[in-house]
Amino acid sequence: MINLYELTQEELTNLLAEWGEPKFRAKQIWEWLYDKRVASFESMTSLPKGLRERLEGETTLGRLSLVTEQTSSDGTVKRLYRLPDGQLIESVLMAYEDDRRTACISTQAGCAMGCVFCATGQMGFARHLSADEIFEQALLFARDLEKANDRLSNVVLMGMGEPFHNYDASLKAIRRLMDELGIGARHITVSTVGLVPQIRQFAEEGLQVKLAISLHAATDEERSELLPVNKRWKLKDLLDACRYYIETTGRRITFEWAAIAGENDTPDEAHKLGALLKGLMCHVNIIPLNPTGGFGGGPSAIEAVNEFIAILAEYGVSATVRVRRGIDIDAGCGQLKSKALKPG
Ligand code: SAH
Ligand code: SF4
Repeated sequence: MINLYELTQEELTNLLAEWGEPKFRAKQIWEWLYDKRVASFESMTSLPKGLRERLEGETTLGRLSLVTEQTSSDGTVKRLYRLPDGQLIESVLMAYEDDRRTACISTQAGCAMGCVFCATGQMGFARHLSADEIFEQALLFARDLEKANDRLSNVVLMGMGEPFHNYDASLKAIRRLMDELGIGARHITVSTVGLVPQIRQFAEEGLQVKLAISLHAATDEERSELLPVNKRWKLKDLLDACRYYIETTGRRITFEWAAIAGENDTPDEAHKLGALLKGLMCHVNIIPLNPTGGFGGGPSAIEAVNEFIAILAEYGVSATVRVRRGIDIDAGCGQLKSKALKPG
């Protein structure tokens, strides 16, 4: 079966030419796929019946099959998809009052980075997703929103997996989000645990896409305990790469900080972080820790977070707290998981 969502416009044109169809058919189908974003061949009403039937028999619209969908009390939607080889992945749609509709999509089945407080890290690594599998998660939300006269406005690569460990596929998916879904680069965010060579590579892509870096601790000792990747690339290497990114792109970086009560939310830690980031063009996004089965820590109290933010301000470092979403259905940051099928 040919997956139509995996073809470029040129490849689709060639396929239709092989089938002996007139040239304009490829253009029509492309419009059904990416302008009108229909969910079935039946809905492609401008095509003759014979062609629709041939498409139905020999091609497919995507490879993700929906297993379950849950809706949180705050409206956040979490979907579990099965991939053709049986792997399971999750993606999340968040609706904000200011009309933003943000899809949070996965880049890997599982994750190899092993961050101790993250449910995806706790399940281990199964495999990389292809660019098409990454892209299709956003496409499916866009398609369903459109049916309700709504529109997907933002995409974050912050679901399961480490996007920069699967760099080429993630970048290819980002380009398709821009070209085929019409999502502006500034409305796309890629989040990394801090893979230094890829941060430098990303700086050179010439994209306006936003970069977020998961920091979570201000000393090597503490960070290595939470994020094993810190043993490979220390804070100094990471901050050097961040400075390179900022100088090269002229763009600011967002640092993510999962606030763990009594651990990394103390005034002392805030002073260390302030000193570390002073003078850097950046913003700190604080996410009170979401509960996961394999980690004992709890979320910071709002008073501690407010004091933390006030201390960072003394260093000229801006910070805000991110509202937690979808916690009742385990759709929050770091809560996505599914039973990973180990390769081999
Ligand atoms: N692998 C990438 C992107 C996916 S994780 C990364 O680590 O950046 C998305 C964000 O959720 C990261 O900032 C991650 O550190 C954070 N996160 C993971 N587990 C969390 C938890 N239990 N509570 C709050 N945030 C968490
Ligand atoms: Fe992987 Fe990100 Fe989870 Fe760390 S926080 S285990 S890098 S998904």
